[in-house]
Amino acid sequence: MTKKFFTGISFLMIYLFFFAVVGSAQTAKNVIILIGDGNGFNSEWAGTYYRYGEAGKQRYQTFPVAIGCTTYSRTNKDVELPAGVTGYDPSVFWETIANGTQGTEFTRTTDSAASSTAIHGGTKTSNGRIGMTYDKKPIELISEIAVKHGKKAGTVTTVPMSHATPAGFSAHEAERGDLGTIFRQMVSKTSHLSVVMGCGHPFYEYGKPIKIKDNEDEKAKTKRFNCVDGEKNWEIMKSGTLNGFNVIETKQQFEELAAGKGIIPDKVIGVVRSLGALPPVDGNLDDVAKTRELLEKNYKNTNWKELPSLSTMSLAALNVLTKNNSNGFILMIEGGAIDHANHGRNTEKSVLEHTGFSKTVDTVIDWVEKNSSWTETLVVVTADHETGQIWGPATYNDDNNNGVYDEGDSFNEFRQVQNNGRGKAPGVQYGSSGHTNALVPLYAKGIGADLFLKRIKGTDQKAAQFWNFSGQYVDDTDIFHVIKTVIVP
Ligand SMILES: [Zn+2]
Repeated sequence: MTKKFFTGISFLMIYLFFFAVVGSAQTAKNVIILIGDGNGFNSEWAGTYYRYGEAGKQRYQTFPVAIGCTTYSRTNKDVELPAGVTGYDPSVFWETIANGTQGTEFTRTTDSAASSTAIHGGTKTSNGRIGMTYDKKPIELISEIAVKHGKKAGTVTTVPMSHATPAGFSAHEAERGDLGTIFRQMVSKTSHLSVVMGCGHPFYEYGKPIKIKDNEDEKAKTKRFNCVDGEKNWEIMKSGTLNGFNVIETKQQFEELAAGKGIIPDKVIGVVRSLGALPPVDGNLDDVAKTRELLEKNYKNTNWKELPSLSTMSLAALNVLTKNNSNGFILMIEGGAIDHANHGRNTEKSVLEHTGFSKTVDTVIDWVEKNSSWTETLVVVTADHETGQIWGPATYNDDNNNGVYDEGDSFNEFRQVQNNGRGKAPGVQYGSSGHTNALVPLYAKGIGADLFLKRIKGTDQKAAQFWNFSGQYVDDTDIFHVIKTVIVP
């Protein structure tokens, strides 16, 4: 054989290798998106100080993509959103704390419904919309696109199963409030979802039986059954199946599914034994003695023995989604109660919720490294918006001492969250009990993660200094576009 022949072969091999690498670089088998609801940069910093006593120590914080993300929603004024309109202007935002909820003629501070729709549908919408445009037209969601391309889809959350964030991933409804109608869509006979897990149990709260009054009025009863679409539907669910989904609720059932024991069902509804929220069971850091104390203090009426952790639920979901499935999946996991803690301006709860969430991200990273790889799976960790207007102590003078920044208070300067060491709640100052328009962190690793860097919308120099990153940010709609690019071959 001649030298020329070998050269030909080599060229062919280089070509094939190049084609294989470049060709496959665009197609992800699995996508896992983890959303800390209300987890802005300072909430992220506070949680990290608590867990590690040092900034930057979370495993996902060293992902190759570590940037910011804008979250603004749009108004429902009947006009096209003008091209290039930006609902986040760093020069306005950093001027004074009063600009934390800056809007424009066309934009607002988002709620979880509009932001989840933007993240999973790639279109800005108005607050309250679930998978729909401002003028109530359905938007094709990333979970639907994934299923169209042969993948499976699922959601896991620590708040009700059809709450805004999981709803925006998987359903279409004009108003977020009707949890029952949204749940009906998510678990219908024709639902594209294979896994729906979270709260909404009509008979338990935080693992303890709800004390139901003999004379419970209709309104209270309707509310209690709303998350599972009414009492009648619950009666069916109690039998163990609904529309082809297996229904589980006990901690043992979640743990067995997470361990891959027994027969893994094709479709699962997992209703943990809590109506409103699942406490951060994973917050129990064995090596931080203070954590148990803080958990007992902040979650007094909790029966820990009845409740699985978000990590356990996530592993259970992964076992269902990967069963006899070579086409892959998309899974959305939400730490839903970081938002609740920040609405309540409760730092201890916030860092505990954050710990439960960040430990779940660790579980997902371990899962990828053990059961998949970064060349076939994309993991995105982000937040849907900031909650609580968290800054460091003395960012403003709370002259009227009501715990929020309002008229009569004076702004000093933006100050860093104060690190009080591992296992200790950091020093913060809440500016409000609502949402803000601040940038939120976005971390990504795995196949297609670099696509985020091709969609940078701007650079926030002040944010760069403040939170020690490039300052570059994308928009929440870019998450949809990046994922779409990597799952549509
Ligand atoms: Zn909220």
